[in-house]
Amino acid sequence: MEFNKCSQCGTFFSNPGKLCPNCATKDTVKIQKLENYLENYSTPNSLEELSYNTGISPKDLNRYINNNNKFSNLNTIIPNL
Ligand SMILES: [Zn+2]
Repeated sequence: MEFNKCSQCGTFFSNPGKLCPNCATKDTVKIQKLENYLENYSTPNSLEELSYNTGISPKDLNRYINNNNKFSNLNTIIPNL
C-alpha cells in the first residue's frame, strides 16, 4: 500500500492527493466559506482584510488562491514576493 504525506500536518495517509482526509475536510469548509464571501461581497483590498472577514489565515488564503483557478481574480491582492 502506498502512503502519501500530508503537506499540511505531515500525517501519512493512503488516499490520493496532497492532504490527509482530516486536512482536506477542513480545507473544503474554508474554501466554501471563501466562495460564499466572494459571492456576497466585492473583492477585498488586501489579503489581511479578506483574512479578517472570513476568519481564514493569510497562509491558507495564499494557498487557495495559488492552487485554485476559481480564485484567480484574487491574485491582485496577494503581496508580490
Ligand atoms: Zn493533514
